[in-house]
Amino acid sequence: MHVPSGHGPYGGHCVTPSYGHHSVAPASHSTISHDRTKSPAAREEELGEKYRIEIGPHPDKPGTHFTHHMLDCLEEVLGYLPKEHTRYNGKLKAIYPLPGDEVNGYYSPSTNIIELRQRADYGAKQALRHEIGHAVSEMIGWENEHKRKAKFGNWRAHNSGDERSSRRSYVQDRNGQWWSYYTSHREVCFVSNYQWTDPGEYFAEVYAAYYDPNQYSRRQLSSSVLKWFETRLPALVA
Ligand SMILES: [Zn+2]
Repeated sequence: MHVPSGHGPYGGHCVTPSYGHHSVAPASHSTISHDRTKSPAAREEELGEKYRIEIGPHPDKPGTHFTHHMLDCLEEVLGYLPKEHTRYNGKLKAIYPLPGDEVNGYYSPSTNIIELRQRADYGAKQALRHEIGHAVSEMIGWENEHKRKAKFGNWRAHNSGDERSSRRSYVQDRNGQWWSYYTSHREVCFVSNYQWTDPGEYFAEVYAAYYDPNQYSRRQLSSSVLKWFETRLPALVA
């Protein structure tokens, strides 16, 4: 069943794909001083305070803290994003370590919690940006208000028997829901294959590309999407 304002995959959760694109550490990484003299618990508390997000062990798994490496990644991503997307985002309450290695992370629109897989490379930064993208989407009602806009490819939901247009691409999400978008948009705004899974993943991937400090990622976005992030989004979250 399709829930227009929710995220379908994996029982209402939004999953980051488990491939490692954008996993190269940007040059800025080495310039940030990550404090290894503090305990992970102390670093989690400090970060949590700074961004007003609960950061640390999942309530069901007390004692399972983020690693220093993961906390480095969190510091960098949270430090780069506008505070309106994090500290002042009522749709982002907590970031917990995710056990297992099946997925890189997910965001729950019902609990507003991100869970992030602990890993040793820099893919965690891309995964965190992607999941925060879901939280920002919730915050501004992107799926209700914006997904049908031509600049985002004009996403539409379909029944399986609907007549098809040669100008559109059709995709079935994990819940069996059919979606379509302008094929021409895919050519000018291509970030990843996962982006074309459904409207929610489209926005999370585009968001993650826009807020990647590696400037190459922004060049993957169409000029009208770039402009939306530059001028429209700041007004929507203000
Ligand atoms: Zn996702």
